[in-house]
Parts: sequence; C-alpha cells; structure tokens
Amino acid sequence: MNDESNPQDIGIILDTYQAAEAKMRRAWHLNAVFIPVGRFFAFLVTAIGVYLNNKFILQSDSLTGFLTFLFTISGYCLISGLILYFFFSKVKKINLGDLFFLLDILIIFYAIYLSGGERSLLFPLMIAWVVDQASTSFKRIMGLTLIAISTFFLFDLFLVFVEHRNISIGFELVKIYIIFGVCLFAALSVRFTDKLRSKVSSAIRVARNLILQLKERSEQLEEARARLEALYQREHEVARTLKELNDMKTNFMIVTSHEMRTPLTIIKGYNEALLNQLFGSLTNTQKKSLEACQHAVNRLTLTLDDILEMMKIHAGQLSLKPREFDLQRMLEQIVTELTPFTEKRHQRITLEAETPLLLVADYAKIYLIFLNLAQNAVKFTYDEGSIGIHAQLKNGLIEVCVKDSGIGIDATEQEKIFEKFYTNSDPNYHTSGRFEFSARGTGLGLSIAKTYTEAHGGRIWVESAGRGQGSRFFVQLPQEFQGLDTKETEEV
Ligand code: ADP
Repeated sequence: MNDESNPQDIGIILDTYQAAEAKMRRAWHLNAVFIPVGRFFAFLVTAIGVYLNNKFILQSDSLTGFLTFLFTISGYCLISGLILYFFFSKVKKINLGDLFFLLDILIIFYAIYLSGGERSLLFPLMIAWVVDQASTSFKRIMGLTLIAISTFFLFDLFLVFVEHRNISIGFELVKIYIIFGVCLFAALSVRFTDKLRSKVSSAIRVARNLILQLKERSEQLEEARARLEALYQREHEVARTLKELNDMKTNFMIVTSHEMRTPLTIIKGYNEALLNQLFGSLTNTQKKSLEACQHAVNRLTLTLDDILEMMKIHAGQLSLKPREFDLQRMLEQIVTELTPFTEKRHQRITLEAETPLLLVADYAKIYLIFLNLAQNAVKFTYDEGSIGIHAQLKNGLIEVCVKDSGIGIDATEQEKIFEKFYTNSDPNYHTSGRFEFSARGTGLGLSIAKTYTEAHGGRIWVESAGRGQGSRFFVQLPQEFQGLDTKETEEV
C-alpha cells in the first residue's frame, strides 16, 4: 500500500483539537529549540565576520572585538535559549520568540559597532536578519526592513553625536539603499510563495474537510452495511422458518389427503353395494339420494387425487419409472373411459394416431396428462360438440393434440391456466361434476400435466382463437425419456 494514502503521513490531522495541539508543538519546537540553536551558529559566523573585518578591513590584530562579541553572544544565546525553552508555551501575552528576534537586531548592531561602526562591512547582516524567517511574508519583510533602516539611522546618529565620528552621509545612504533594495527584492519574491502558501493552506483545509466527510460517509456506509447484514440474517431466518412451515403444510396435506381417501373408498364401496341393491331393494327416492352421494364421493376422491399428486410434486417426491408402451393404445383406453360421458352429452370424440406409437416414459404420469386434457375438453365443450385427439411422430418427437370445439380460451389466459389452482370456469355454469359442462375442479389438472410433461423433457402449450372458438392443447414428448430415474419412490 502506498504510504501517502494515509492523511496523517502527509501531515493532515483530521481531529481539529489534535491539529491545534500539533500546531502548538511545532511552534514550540521551532521557537524554543530550532531557532535558538540556529541563532547561536549564526552569531558564531558573525563573530568570525567581526574577526575578519577587524583584521582585513580595519587592519587590526587585536582580538578584543572578536572576543567581546563571542562572550556577549554566548551569554545572550544561553539566556534567551533557556527562557524560550521553559517559558515559550507558558507566556501567552507576548510571543517570546518574536521578542528575542527583535532583540537580535541589537546584537547585529553590536557586531557592526565592534567591527568599526561606519567602516564595518558587516551591515548586510541586517538583510539576513530581515529575510531569514521560517515563515515570512511580504508585509513582515517590509516591516522589518523599516525597523532595520530606522535602527541603522539611529546607529549613525549615535556614532555622530555620541562617538563624534566623522561619517560620510553619501556612503551611509548607499548602504541604506542597498539594504532597502535587497529587502524589497526579497519581499517581492516572497509574494509568490505567500500566495502559494495560502493556496496550500486552503487546499489542506479543503482536503481535511473532504477527508472528514469521507470518513463520516464511510462510517454511515459501514453502519448501513451492518444493518443490511442484520436484515439479511433475519430474512434468512424468516425464509428458513417459512420453508419449515411450508414443508409442514405439505406433509400435513399429504397425510390428510391420504387418510381421507381410505374412509372414502369404504363409503364408495358400501354406497355401490347399496345402489346395486345388495342389501335390499330401494325406493326411487333412496336410489336418487344414494346416486347423489356416490357423485359427491367420486368428486371428493378426484379432488384428493389432484391435491395428493400436487403435494407429492411439492415435496420433491416426483420420480419417474419409465417403461416402453404404445401411446396409441393408451389414448384409445382414455377415449373408451370417456365415451359413456361423451355419449351422455351427445359429444363426438375421435382418435387419430399412428400405430404402434412407441414411447418410453412413466406410464401412469403420461396417462394422467392426457386424461386431464381429454377430461377438460369434454368439460369445456358444449353438448353435441366435438373432441378430437391426434397423435403423430413429428421431427423425432411425439406430438399429441387434444382439440375441442368448446368455449375457447382468451389470449390473456393462455399462460395462466397452467398455474397452480387457476380455474376460470364461469361460475354461472358451475357444476361440481367430472364431465358436466364447465364443471369447475381444483385448478390443478393443467399444472400437474405441465410438471409431468416437463419432467419428461417435453413441452405443453395451448392455442385458441379466443372465447367460443374452441381450443387445441399440444404436448410434445421425446420418444425416449433420457434422464432415467430408476429410484423407486415410496408411495405416500
Ligand atoms: P380445472 O379443470 O380443475 O379448473 P385445470 O388446471 O385442468 O383445472 O384447468 C384450468 C382452467 O383452464 C380451467 O378452469 C379452464 O378455465 C381452462 N381450461 C382448461 N382446459 C380447457 C379447455 N379445453 N377449454 C377451455 N378452457 C379450458
């Protein structure tokens, strides 16, 4: 990872309190350590300057000036250094750093004085004093230049009136001009750095704000992520509970349907025996009542069969036991089963199929598919209407079409009728029979047919020109079911 990706590494402290503290620490270090040490070395260089000036400009071999200055600066630097070290942070009213800085000019003039006064070549030291600033600005340089020149002027007055020296005004003016010119030049160059510095400070402020915002956002994001994770966990738990409940419901339905079928078989048996007058002769009213009873029992059995079949699919108990059989013969059997009902309703039912039409599939499930389609065709076709079943081998697939001249299906409904529990029989025509016109069932027949067809790798669909136009249900199946599932499923 790049080190500079951390704001602290590039000197940006995010916490404003910490930033203020760091600033104070930096100021103390600068004023109480760095500058005093620098001051001592600068004055040491000045002392050498005094020595050189005295030796080569004043032509004097005396070391008095040099040693006096050395002694003075040692004392001054020690005292100022100690005061700054111990009191810089404590004294708030005045800036001790600035105070000693101003006192430095007197030391410089002392050096000039000891090196000959008006004859000293050390006057450029004033320029160094003006411009040598850790953080200077145009205004500050100009202000200090004014102080330097004023002090220089006072110094000259001191030399003339106190020391009675004869000094050249022109020469002194040239020195002042040099000092002023160099300092002005330095001040002008600092203007650019000034601007740059203020831009950098603004940039740091903006960066700090942005980083703070970013930090806040990422904290919010982290919170949102944690909330989302908690929600996800809850949803997970809810989904698990729902699945458990759903499994319980499916098992309950399977057990209930199964348990209801046994007594129904007994009721049906006794009912048939009674109807066949095995237990004595019946009056007409008794016979009619028993027939109604038989009808209701049959209907209930069919409904339970549908529910049981669907629940088995739901419980993942759908397994196929494929074997080879002749589809033409199966369809013939279905037609035979339906004939008593079509005759009753004066409907014409026909079968057209190649023979033999061999198919490898689960016999019972395929039977249920076509029985459902044919029963629906009878149910949803008016009396005296016609039903046709057509089976053929087409492009290597077996295609069966169950066609009727019945009530037809609107385009909007053609997808929905394959959904579970979808039933759209007109309640006005509603009867609860198996083959009566528009009799309504559980709405599971087509859904079961679709599941079984697709389990065999086939496809089922409907075509109808709309209400009153009849319907054509198509089933396409591969001749040989590929995904053989030889697992025997326990019958529920
Ligand atoms: P059910 O017959 O028990 O209502 P199905 O799943 O077999 O359930 O059929 C769903 C619906 O599809 C029926 O209620 C009916 O509205 C429509 N339908 C099925 N077959 C036909 C058909 N041959 N003609 C017209 N509508 C049909």
